[in-house]
Amino acid sequence: MNDETQRLPNLEKRHVEKLQAVFISHLHKDHVGALSFLAELGYQGPVLLSETTKDWLPFTDTLQFVSFQTTQQAVWQQVTPNLKFIWGNSGHVLGSVWYSVLFQEKQVFFSGDVSLTSPLYPVDAPPRLVYDVAFIDSGNAGQLINNLGSKEEIRQLIAEESTLSFKIESKFTSKCVEILLYLFQTTKTNLFVDEAIEQWLHFHWKHRDNLLKQTQMDLQNLLASDRLQRATKRENGVYFLTKEQFLATKMEDSLNRIPFKNHLDTSDIYYVSTYLGATKTIYFHNEACTADTTLAEIIALNQTGNWKDV
Ligand SMILES: [Zn+2]
Ligand SMILES: [Zn+2]
Repeated sequence: MNDETQRLPNLEKRHVEKLQAVFISHLHKDHVGALSFLAELGYQGPVLLSETTKDWLPFTDTLQFVSFQTTQQAVWQQVTPNLKFIWGNSGHVLGSVWYSVLFQEKQVFFSGDVSLTSPLYPVDAPPRLVYDVAFIDSGNAGQLINNLGSKEEIRQLIAEESTLSFKIESKFTSKCVEILLYLFQTTKTNLFVDEAIEQWLHFHWKHRDNLLKQTQMDLQNLLASDRLQRATKRENGVYFLTKEQFLATKMEDSLNRIPFKNHLDTSDIYYVSTYLGATKTIYFHNEACTADTTLAEIIALNQTGNWKDV
């Protein structure tokens, strides 16, 4: 759970005793933060995840992790006699996947976090099945976001003020990698990263089989370029930092305010919901969504109110 208090899910031993398998979509904290809690509650079954996600895990000994290669073609895998699944690349972050699960005659789709149009990672379409339940990421519900337009806006701001330093708040997400690569290709500006983001880029290179072909080449060029530098002091350029560091310019806010999605926005939610056509759809990853939220309500959330654009 992504809130300040870091609440754990309402899981008790009696639930865990019934668990046959745990599916991990990707390693962001809101999706795996309760794994050690699960181990504490005595879970001993398989925890399924992609090989890249497993490589990113800080610990692998407390639970029984069972990994699969995201570069291989996905086929149905049997976990227990009444449980089988297929995975696909979800485009949200390096090694992230969605799951289509058949459990006791019920067909369930779990999206994890999804980005439909990632320029970095492959995205697979789920099999067209009759879904009883679909869990759909609605992280950017209420918004219509065009990442290319946002990257272009960032580039223009930088071009206008070439003697300033800019900061882009960075985490272990696709956003910082995507903007780094875009600015590398479209500007001449220096790009500064802290140690964490440098490691994040090298982790991408290590798992470059999970990247689209063009992105592999772009990343190779970026890593070899002297325009990519470790941030040590304040100079003119763009900084990708995981923590507050020696930077406070007027421009910082304007960069962070530029919208960017690596979740489904309203238009994407509409597309994925109608594509899957599940009997029951449960939207998650947005404070405005509860277990009862409908697609119509998500569309109504749209702040622009301009349905023509969708
Ligand atoms: Zn995520
Ligand atoms: Zn998430």
